[in-house]
Amino acid sequence: MKKIQMVDLKGQYEAIKSQVDSSIQEVIDTTTFINGPEVHEFQKELEIYLGVKNVIPCANGTDALQIAMMGLDLKPGDEVITADFTFAATVEVIALLQLTPVLVDVDPVNFNIDIDAIKKAITPRTKAIVPVHLFGLSANMDAIMKIAEEHNLYVIEDNAQAIGANYISKDGSKKKTGTMGHVASTSFFPSKNLGCYGDGGAIFTNDDALAHTIRGIVNHGMYERYHHDVVGVNSRLDSIQAAVLRAKLPHLDSYNEARRNAARKYSKAFADMEAVVIPKGVCDTNNSICDVCDCHVFHQYTLRILNGKRDALVKHLNENGIPCGVYYPIPLHLQKAYRDERYNEADFEVTNQLVKEVISLPMHTELDEEQIDFITKTVINFVSK
Ligand SMILES: *Cc1c(COP(=O)(O)O)cnc(C)c1O
Repeated sequence: MKKIQMVDLKGQYEAIKSQVDSSIQEVIDTTTFINGPEVHEFQKELEIYLGVKNVIPCANGTDALQIAMMGLDLKPGDEVITADFTFAATVEVIALLQLTPVLVDVDPVNFNIDIDAIKKAITPRTKAIVPVHLFGLSANMDAIMKIAEEHNLYVIEDNAQAIGANYISKDGSKKKTGTMGHVASTSFFPSKNLGCYGDGGAIFTNDDALAHTIRGIVNHGMYERYHHDVVGVNSRLDSIQAAVLRAKLPHLDSYNEARRNAARKYSKAFADMEAVVIPKGVCDTNNSICDVCDCHVFHQYTLRILNGKRDALVKHLNENGIPCGVYYPIPLHLQKAYRDERYNEADFEVTNQLVKEVISLPMHTELDEEQIDFITKTVINFVSK
């Protein structure tokens, strides 16, 4: 059996080596390392793939989120609601911009921001909601957009983990995550579903005026050469990363399908285990639950272990050569940097529980049958002991 890895970037590279190598070589040959034609071409190709009017490439997913917020007319002290159970980048940029993060609990079924918790957290100072499409599954965008409309709030989608995922609205329409809010961000960090070979990110929006504002912000606030109209940043996707992404984008759907296939096999093996909750996707018009739907792109395959054996399982898997991860071990509202006396522990019941139960198994495009078999058997033998 091949050595099991959490993410197998080498195997994926080998399958597209000639495309990637020639694209990178072309950038080197032409020395257009910054703002080369690859960046613009990739931008156009991603706009078409997503069905969004504007993609603005930038340096990483954290920048993308920060710049998306800088493009909106938010002022220090404005409250921004986001999920307690996510990667810290989401709340970090809110705080950096001197906005007030308001962390709220998540849904135990889909791990995404809880709709009632959003409603409860809204005050006259609330200006935006940042749903994170966690682990590759869209948050409930119908409900979020409805709340946003009613309260005149911006919606900024953190799409770092869900590129290529679909969301099916109540009206039956199918949209890509990252194209439904006012603006969205994504990351091309190597291990993301569409990863480059370094850092990269992008902002998406259907709002042309906002796109114009953001294009200036990423480039030192310049709209005309050496005229700085707003305080901007320097945040670029470099041409070599864009070349890698251009080679990989045509494979994104098949990469996501490979992840779903692995997820289906995992879920089938764990389906009858009482102590294990398999990930579900809430995707159709009735909000009913299906096991592994086409909407989930499985950035992570995350189980809940209900019998208190999560930590022991992590140790056992590692001892058996199976890498795994705990995303995330600490709720954001309990992190030193983001504690706030306004928070009430009773409001974070789900997150406080999830951090003790979740475990993410190896998930990437190159997992084979033998590896999945070994992983599932090892989990089942240990958890049901
Ligand atoms: C990865 C990630 C980011 C940050 O992306 P970087 O490219 O690493 O800056 C932001 N939000 C979420 C949810 C992520 O998973």
